[in-house]
Formats: sequence, structure tokens, C-alpha cells
Amino acid sequence: MPTTHEALSSLFSRTMIKTRKETPNRAVSVNHDLLIRGNFIRQEAAGIYTILPLGRRVLNNIENIIRHHLNELGSVELTLPALHPKNLWEQTGRWDTVDVLYKVQSKFGKKYVLAATTEEIATPLAKDHIKSYRDLPLSFYSINNKYRDEARAKSGIIRNREFGMKDMYSFHASPEDFAQYYKKVLETYMQIFADCGINAKITEASGGEYTVAATHEFMAISEAGEDEIICCEECSFAQNIEVSGYHEGDKCPKCGEKLKTEKAIEIGHIFDLGIKFSNDFNLKFVDRNGTLQPVFMGCYGIGTTRLMGAVVEIHYDERGIVWPEKLAPYNCHLVGLNMEDSNVNRVAFTLYEYLARKHISVLFDEREKVSPGRKFSDADLIGIPIRLIISKRTVQKNSIEITDRVSGKSEVIPLDKFYRQINQDNFESLK
Ligand SMILES: [Zn+2]
Repeated sequence: MPTTHEALSSLFSRTMIKTRKETPNRAVSVNHDLLIRGNFIRQEAAGIYTILPLGRRVLNNIENIIRHHLNELGSVELTLPALHPKNLWEQTGRWDTVDVLYKVQSKFGKKYVLAATTEEIATPLAKDHIKSYRDLPLSFYSINNKYRDEARAKSGIIRNREFGMKDMYSFHASPEDFAQYYKKVLETYMQIFADCGINAKITEASGGEYTVAATHEFMAISEAGEDEIICCEECSFAQNIEVSGYHEGDKCPKCGEKLKTEKAIEIGHIFDLGIKFSNDFNLKFVDRNGTLQPVFMGCYGIGTTRLMGAVVEIHYDERGIVWPEKLAPYNCHLVGLNMEDSNVNRVAFTLYEYLARKHISVLFDEREKVSPGRKFSDADLIGIPIRLIISKRTVQKNSIEITDRVSGKSEVIPLDKFYRQINQDNFESLK
């Protein structure tokens, strides 16, 4: 039965979901195992994944959270290309120095870089728009795929050769103006990660291969992480173990509590670029006194697919993924049992379409001849916060069963009461 709300909601059998009990490389990592078994992603080769419809919806949610917060910050979205002419990378000296670059040769003899990062495009672009102090500050961002020729792609979608990334660049008239903006981005990033269900730790790191000055990393504490940090559980103090002078058991320099080491996944990284790229591309502006001055730049990254992997590493149990509410692919998972029964079929489809009309997105398991056990284990694996069950039993009693994915608690309520609640925009109260 087709519905007019397909973009908002989906039928299970039309969403490219074929859940599996096992993955071939189960030991690789939790996110690899659960995201593949739940049909969020499909591995094509080491470090290369297709994002399937369920995964696409989660990634859309992540990207929209990022958009919401960055737009509030006054940044504007655009799309930077993935194919960059070689000469731009020669101009920054990075054609030869960045060892993870994919270099592509055209049949016409031209050479290109597959975007590993985008300063080489962003800086000349900004030059078109920055002439005087009146044009500053400027900030824009792009969410698209990046490419890095990693020696070892691993940990599911945590470290890939092709991956989703948000890059933001900001341009300023002075180091002071830059510093103010940088601080605002730092706070904004914490909100973005909180919305994604991650209580991030901020560590200060040395410049690294793309930068000249100090940087800040945002770390999600997880056993799947490649980094090790030393941090305080009581306050926000955290340092990367590589640069830190502190050891486990030392007193926190901020609050005096004990420090401990944790494994962590880097989910965001922000950089003070200084005038490195402004110099490379001669990006200058005329100040109030009519003097030419260099533009100060910042760069701010979030790995979007990596963030999805990190969220799974943190939010799961023995039955599958437990998505934080704002990232869940659908608001609820409607499970129809005994769908061969015409009464059940009618009640379930009516409910499905009603929810969609009320802008509550639904994944509707409408499959016939699939056992209840299989449907429930699929729902657990996929991890949508609220499960609604319509079955022969509930239809006989004019009721509906509501289950919370986190607590596993179930409640049976009259169907008309459920409709009343939805009608009063009271979906929240069902949790
Ligand atoms: Zn502390």
C-alpha cells in the first residue's frame, strides 16, 4: 500500500534492510559490526563504504544539527569541490608534503588532488570576496566527502579513505577578532556534540601537518579510540597523552581530583591557521587607514561519518544500537505482527499514515510471514528509541503496545488514547 508520505516514513521492505546476525569481520569494531548488521552502511573495500538509506537518515540528522548551529554562528553553507587542480596545492607547498594525498592524472595530462582538506580552494575563493575591512569577518562551510590515502583504514567508519566531513573556514581582520570567533566555535562544537549524544572532551594539540599554530581536538571517550587522553572526571580538564606532562593518578591542575587515562576518538578539530594560507595566495585587505594587511584564518572540521561511528561506539547494548533521540533514523519503529490478518493490516497501515500526516517519522515493519522474534531483534539492532506494536492481540483489545528501546519497558494503552495524544502533539509524552 503506497503512502503519500514516503519521504518522511518508510516501509521496512522498501528501505534496503536485510539484517544479519553476523558480519564476516565481527571483531573489527562495534560500529562496523552493528552498522553493517543493521544495514546502515555497506563495506565496498577497506576504508570505503556505501551509506545505505538508514545510515543516510542518521547522517542527515548529524549534518542538520551541524547546519543549525553553524548558521546560528553566522556562517554560510556552500559546496567546495572534491577535485582540486594541482597548481593550487603547489602554491601552498602541500603537493609534496602531505603524504595522504590521492593524486589523480587525467587522460588529458592534467593532474588533480582529491580533496583531503580544502584550504587550497577556500582561500582563493575568499580572495574574491574580501577587499576591505568591511568584508570581514567572513565564514563559510562545506559538507562533502574527503579522501585520504591512509596506510591502514580501520575501526569501521572511524578511519576511512573516503569519508564525510564538514569544513568551515573563517577570515578575520585581526588576531583578536579571530580569537573571539574561535572561542565561539569551541562552544558551538560542544553543543553540536551534545546534540549528538556525546559529552566531548577538549584537548589542546600541536599543529600537525595542516597547520602552523596550536589546535584544539574534540574527543569522544571510547575504547574504540586511537588516541589516548589524560582527563579529569570532575571538570573539563583534558590533554592528549602525547603532549601531556601529567600521568594517571596525578592531581587535576584545575580542581585537584585524580586524573585518569582514557582511549578516545577524535571527532572534531579546530585550527588557528594564522596567515599561512593568506600569504600563499596573497589574500590581503585594505584596513581603515588604507593599508594592505594579511587576513587571519581559522579552519574547523568535523568528520560526519566518523561522528556517526563514534556515536555507535558509545550508544549500544548487547542487542544493538541505541540511537540518541536526535540522531535516530525515524521517530518510531512501528512493528506489525500477524500482518497476514486483514484487520491487523488495516489498523497498522491506518496508524502508519496517520503518524506521517502528523510529521512523526516511522519505519514500518509491514513484512508478512516474518516471526515476531525476528522483527523484535531487528528493531533492537536498528535502535530507534520508540517501538509501537500492532498485533492480533492488540487489535482485539483496541490497544497498542509502546516499548522504550533504552529501558526495554513496555506499556499497553487504548488505541484511541494513543491517537488523542498524537493529535494533541503529545508524542513526547509517550516516552
Ligand atoms: Zn579536574
